[in-house]
Amino acid sequence: MRLILVPTPIGNLEDITLRALRVLKEAEVVACEDTRRTGLLLKHFGISKPMVRLDQHTVANAKRLLEGYELVAYATDAGTPGISDPGAELVALAIKEGWALEVLPGPTALIPALVASGLPTARFAFEGFLPQKRAERRERLEQVAARTVVLYEAPHRLRETLQDLLQLYGPEHPVAIARELSKLHEEIWRGRLGDALEYFKEPRGEFVLVLGPKEQAPAARGQGTQELLEQLKAQGLKGKELVSALIEAGVPRNLAYELAHKPDVPKP
Ligand code: SAM
Repeated sequence: MRLILVPTPIGNLEDITLRALRVLKEAEVVACEDTRRTGLLLKHFGISKPMVRLDQHTVANAKRLLEGYELVAYATDAGTPGISDPGAELVALAIKEGWALEVLPGPTALIPALVASGLPTARFAFEGFLPQKRAERRERLEQVAARTVVLYEAPHRLRETLQDLLQLYGPEHPVAIARELSKLHEEIWRGRLGDALEYFKEPRGEFVLVLGPKEQAPAARGQGTQELLEQLKAQGLKGKELVSALIEAGVPRNLAYELAHKPDVPKP
């Protein structure tokens, strides 16, 4: 079987590529996350095709659902399949089954948000949706904060995420928030984290957050962790305070706990 992943517009329908339209016309079947949504898109472009629903619940059955087809196009609700949607699972299955896989380049929310942010683009970390648990969210961000970070967020969780970010990065930290990209009410808000909560009081629409790189912490700049530990202890820090200071300085959380609770070895 030949499976072609087809990116679809995240807003303006003119964002569809000529190649995407040709593939949708040539495919025997269009597999998609939501048949109603993709059906409307096909209708807009005058394409009539059988459709098969492959969403997060049914993608595991893709082999059975697509049996007998030679050429399948796959589209998710919007953007590039495989980026924070069920497309990734379908790709894994295609590789496992030895299907011929093609991925068309096309619309995705993260790239326009990153570029429009005005923040460094040479190196960045895309984290998609953060985990729901606060401790896991924090840990995930701590791992990548030295780079520009791109996040997806649902409107009802935006304020809570901004509060977490504020704690981790501080109020002065630069952030860009892209809302409703490629749509009529597209907005790129650039500012400081401390002002973002004030601005997005009742968030509506779709959001991508882009955070500037956190200034490299001493540990990350090459100062030995042991040296840092000794310096902080000499300043009288211990217990929880010491753990927080180590984490703040870029030491991974587990290591910070271990170091802070390790008994001092008396010097000979
Ligand atoms: N596969 C998609 C892509 O390539 O971007 C992402 C799918 S993910 C399920 C949906 C998330 O992408 C939204 O919650 C939002 O964070 C982001 N997103 C999608 N369209 C957007 C838009 N027009 N403006 C801003 N963010 C958007």
